[in-house]
Amino acid sequence: MKTRVAIIGGGAAGLMAAIAAAKNDADVCIYEKLNRVGKKILATGNGRCNYTNINTSVNDYHGKNLRFAEEIINSFNVNSTLDFFEDIGIYPRIEENGKVYPYSLQASSVLDNLRYEANRYKIKEMVESKVKSLRKNKGHFDIITDTGVFIADKVIICTGGRAGSQYGCTGDGYGLAESFGHKIINQFPALVQLKLNADYLKKISGVKFDGAVSCFSDSALIRREEGEILFTDYGISGPPVLQISREAIKYLYNKEMIFISIDMFPDFDKNMLYELLSERFIKLKTKTIEESFNGLINKKLIPVILSLALNEYKEEKCTKLNKKDIYSVVNILKEWKIEITGHNDWQQAQTTAGGVCVDDINPKTLESKKEKGLYFAGEVLDVDGDCGGFNLQWAWSSGYIAGYSASDSI
Ligand SMILES: Cc1cc2nc3c(=O)[nH]c(=O)nc-3n(C[C@H](O)[C@H](O)[C@H](O)COP(=O)(O)OP(=O)(O)OC[C@H]3O[C@@H](n4cnc5c(N)ncnc54)[C@H](O)[C@@H]3O)c2cc1C
Repeated sequence: MKTRVAIIGGGAAGLMAAIAAAKNDADVCIYEKLNRVGKKILATGNGRCNYTNINTSVNDYHGKNLRFAEEIINSFNVNSTLDFFEDIGIYPRIEENGKVYPYSLQASSVLDNLRYEANRYKIKEMVESKVKSLRKNKGHFDIITDTGVFIADKVIICTGGRAGSQYGCTGDGYGLAESFGHKIINQFPALVQLKLNADYLKKISGVKFDGAVSCFSDSALIRREEGEILFTDYGISGPPVLQISREAIKYLYNKEMIFISIDMFPDFDKNMLYELLSERFIKLKTKTIEESFNGLINKKLIPVILSLALNEYKEEKCTKLNKKDIYSVVNILKEWKIEITGHNDWQQAQTTAGGVCVDDINPKTLESKKEKGLYFAGEVLDVDGDCGGFNLQWAWSSGYIAGYSASDSI
């Protein structure tokens, strides 16, 4: 008889686990609480699905036990992932910083090809079936859903974390894991926009530019990232902001003051920027101070930056600025410091920090050390990655290993 494998949650990890198990001759059923599988995949990478990163290493991950994560991402690694996806029809397009997208630049092609593969291996999908609890019953598991009770020999929990909760992940996996004695690490949103304490945000909302952001506690630098930055009416967003958010939120939760520092000219040091401005003011001597910045920085930012840097500047000509004034502007352009006061909620977050503690899980198989036949994969575990394709890589690596291991004969 084939091993009956139940996959709880039809997201990235669940689909990969299902395919790996079915390829290895298991009889597989996915239980998905939404009306179709893989909804979150469609939203990834702004609809383009950044499905892995050719530079993946353990340094791109966070969690309490990174040796566990390392073993898994080295086992079903980036090359295995690229091969797997190419075999099912996804030709890779490699973009900046090693990010990999489907050549079609459509997340839907990733989901379509995964579903095609799932159909080819006759994987059953029970949609609109929320798993409420799991019970070990003699040699098998009872899967208790809101549509009935089903039986499986092995169970893989792939319910995701709490991030992107509109796509079905609301932390259900933690209760299921706890019912078998697993320890759960507190969760908080990671890869999320930050709220700032500044009264001028409404005026500059929508402004985008390439720059660098750092987060600081007291004067200690915690993390610095470069990329496209976007001001919003509540604070700040963009890939480098998401990237530093995990560290910033840890400080917020410890009730420590934390600041973001924005560098609008990462390619210039302060003296180079001083020279650039001084020469510019001579060249543009007929213009007012405000007019002289038009063409250098976004127009909406000019009055805000000038009022932060200078006391009075209104209609004065730019040649009126002395050395001290120019350095004062340079300091804001290079180190615009604003207090971070919070973050957006689970709906806007891209991943979950914390989750099922991995100490009680075998890194070779992803089987629970607490309950034989029970496995875990994906974001439900206490492993989260940086922005850049690392979270989906985690879902594929852990999903594949869990699926393959669970399909071994009973
Ligand atoms: C907007 C957005 C963009 C992202 N972009 C990227 C990107 O480009 N690259 C990248 O690497 N990562 C990206 N991520 C992160 C990545 O999508 C996730 O880390 C990854 O999808 C996690 O996979 P998973 O299978 O563990 O969980 P999920 O994909 O969250 O899937 C879990 C599934 O389980 C189902 N489920 C939950 N509870 C139950 C239950 N009780 N019964 C039945 N089913 C249940 C859910 O409905 C869901 O379908 C993005 C995330 C978001 C929100």
